[in-house]
Amino acid sequence: MNLLLLGPPGAGKGTQAKRLVAEYGWPQVSTGDMLREARAAGTPLGKQAASYMDAGELVPASVVIGVAKERLMGSDVAGGYVLDGFPRNREQAEALDEFLTERAESLDLVVNIRVDPDVIVKRILGRRACAAPDCGGDFNVYFNPPAAEEICDDCGGGLVRRSDDNEETILNRLDVYRRETEPLIEHYRPSGKVVDIDGAAEPDEVYGAIKAEIEKRRG
Ligand code: ADP
Ligand code: ZN
Repeated sequence: MNLLLLGPPGAGKGTQAKRLVAEYGWPQVSTGDMLREARAAGTPLGKQAASYMDAGELVPASVVIGVAKERLMGSDVAGGYVLDGFPRNREQAEALDEFLTERAESLDLVVNIRVDPDVIVKRILGRRACAAPDCGGDFNVYFNPPAAEEICDDCGGGLVRRSDDNEETILNRLDVYRRETEPLIEHYRPSGKVVDIDGAAEPDEVYGAIKAEIEKRRG
């Protein structure tokens, strides 16, 4: 199955995508993660993207569309994937539509994760990730605090904030989401593939709701 996760920053797309990967084995295709990796590796792509990311702006479509398409042509995504953070505006959605049509593929499910802006700001400001490269430890100082402050429960490594998880950038990211990304829900609505999920619930509950929709479609 090809899934698309839509929702504001901090809606829990990454958290849910990781659970889907673990259960179904469909790779997570996250343009945000790919851009962060490119930055960490200091590639030209990473350098190009950095200032946009820190400002909470969209990285230009000319850059992101190529990155996403290349990833979607990989052999490991042939059995299905979970798109997270792409497409993010109409131009990207149209490029994806075209790409899928050319390959006689389609999206099977579009999950719209809904969360109120005030919850989002707290979630993003509280978000901490383990700095150890392969740990994946993920905490929130408000909602899922580590046992010791700024220390990973899983490996004892230090916890870090994403450079774009600061108050100014968040407000801009929310604004960009409202202007550019939210309209995509209506872009996909006529396809009949969109389901709305309450993202304010506990992660387990959100996951249960997504899983139920997947199982319905797999028959
Ligand atoms: P979040 O959803 O929490 O804002 P992401 O990790 O998806 O975080 O994205 C972080 C940043 O990376 C975005 O603010 C943007 O600058 C850039 N980015 C990620 N995906 C895209 C995309 N599809 N198009 C343009 N910019 C993107
Ligand atoms: Zn860790």
